[in-house]
Amino acid sequence: MAVKCTECGAAVHDDSKFCRYCGAKIMQDETVEVKKHEYRFETINHAKIRKEELKAEKEIAKAKANVEWLEQWRKCNEEDRVDNRLQTIGAILCIILPFALIIYLITTL
Ligand SMILES: [Zn+2]
Repeated sequence: MAVKCTECGAAVHDDSKFCRYCGAKIMQDETVEVKKHEYRFETINHAKIRKEELKAEKEIAKAKANVEWLEQWRKCNEEDRVDNRLQTIGAILCIILPFALIIYLITTL
């Protein structure tokens, strides 16, 4: 049986290890199968790695969004706190001022 040299295409005997025309290593069917297997394995691995990378990227994006949301929430909370303080001061003034006015009126009359 003859096989084709993968380098020069010449027909060489299938049990020869090297091509007698160009000296290239003759790939036996098994070698080709192993190569195919390796290639497929690599391709699958690459796909897996890419998938993991995409997953990681998504996780990072999610985490970033979470941090942004948290920061915004914190900012809103701070603004709320300032608002609350102002409201409290306003309420206290609203109660104290009329009292002060009444006391002032009582004491001066
Ligand atoms: Zn050859």
